[in-house]
Amino acid sequence: MSTRPLLNRRLNGMGSTIFAEMSALATATGAINLGQGFPDTDGPAEIAEAAVRAIREGRGNQYPPGPGIPELRTAIAEHQQRFYGLGYDPDGEVLVTAGATEAIAAAMLALLEPGDEVIAFEPFYDSYAACIAMAGATRVPLTLRAPDFRPDLDLLRAKVTPRTRLLLLNSPHNPTGMVLTPDELTAIAELACERDLLVVTDEVYEHLVFDGTHHPIAALPGMRERTVSISSAGKTFSFTGWKVGWVTASRELVAAVRTAKQYLTYVSAGPFQYAIAEALRLPDDYYADFCADLLRKRDLLDTGLRAAGFEVYEPQGTYFITTDITPFGEKDAYAFCRALPERCGVVAIPNSVFYDDPDAGRSQVRFTFCKQDAVLADAVARLERLGG
Ligand SMILES: *Cc1c(COP(=O)(O)O)cnc(C)c1O
Repeated sequence: MSTRPLLNRRLNGMGSTIFAEMSALATATGAINLGQGFPDTDGPAEIAEAAVRAIREGRGNQYPPGPGIPELRTAIAEHQQRFYGLGYDPDGEVLVTAGATEAIAAAMLALLEPGDEVIAFEPFYDSYAACIAMAGATRVPLTLRAPDFRPDLDLLRAKVTPRTRLLLLNSPHNPTGMVLTPDELTAIAELACERDLLVVTDEVYEHLVFDGTHHPIAALPGMRERTVSISSAGKTFSFTGWKVGWVTASRELVAAVRTAKQYLTYVSAGPFQYAIAEALRLPDDYYADFCADLLRKRDLLDTGLRAAGFEVYEPQGTYFITTDITPFGEKDAYAFCRALPERCGVVAIPNSVFYDDPDAGRSQVRFTFCKQDAVLADAVARLERLGG
């Protein structure tokens, strides 16, 4: 064998995701896993039944159409109209993907040339850095800083160069829980139009906004033709294992993303697509109850973390709470998270790994609250043993 490293330079340093590492630690130690964001209760029984029915009736058991089954594309278009007044043609302006993860990858691979710059908020959702790298492009972080994690829009403007091709947005933002305000969205949209930038926006937590409602940037003037909106059924319907995601965008942008997508997975999740078509049409009560339930859980964990001694940054959306461990006299979130199962039987995620700037998130730790109330209460009781 040659001495050349097997993993290419683009992926160097992206060994394995922190979620895999911390979930393995939870399994090995029997700790309560408030690390990876997956619910410990499945989504609606009637939606699970719809998937079973589709399999039994032979719907989606063979390769579904490349862009997604028509029933789901229609339901996605209806959802965008119903919640945001956005009109998309199910035939050409909607693309079904293997979760939001594939949509992000396909968008980066389709839209970027090597050498292009992508501005994204840091802390980054971890697949962003990898997908930008796989496309041969360069990430340019805009650091969100505690305590409120608002983006500095003057700094954003200053980071745009002639090489900037796109802005990769995420609101509600994982891991900080920051939700972009209508004013911030307007300023970002104006900048995108002025500098002729594409916008790729990850909105998987669109139905978990605790104050007010979600505002898609695609609805703003001049944005429809330059925005790729990405969402997914995983978080909204508590079926993260089904991996049904989607893109809505102009015909030209969808065609570009589809070109990359068709050689990644080709198609995915046949029978689940039928079930998610039904899920998207659930009445408003489903969405309202889902959000109210998670808000209650947020408050439960928020109160508990404060009582345990953490500095808590209350999230405006998502199902994560970012905290700071400085009150415990500790500074290194990664070391803290590695030791936490041993110390008190809880697993969390160090936000420090989502930053390029080594100082910005060094002492931040993220907990998820998409767990049963009893599990959250148990975790809080364990965390109190830290004696903060
Ligand atoms: C969970 C998550 C995803 C991945 O969504 P899938 O549909 O499971 O692929 C993408 N972006 C963010 C911000 C997430 O939290």
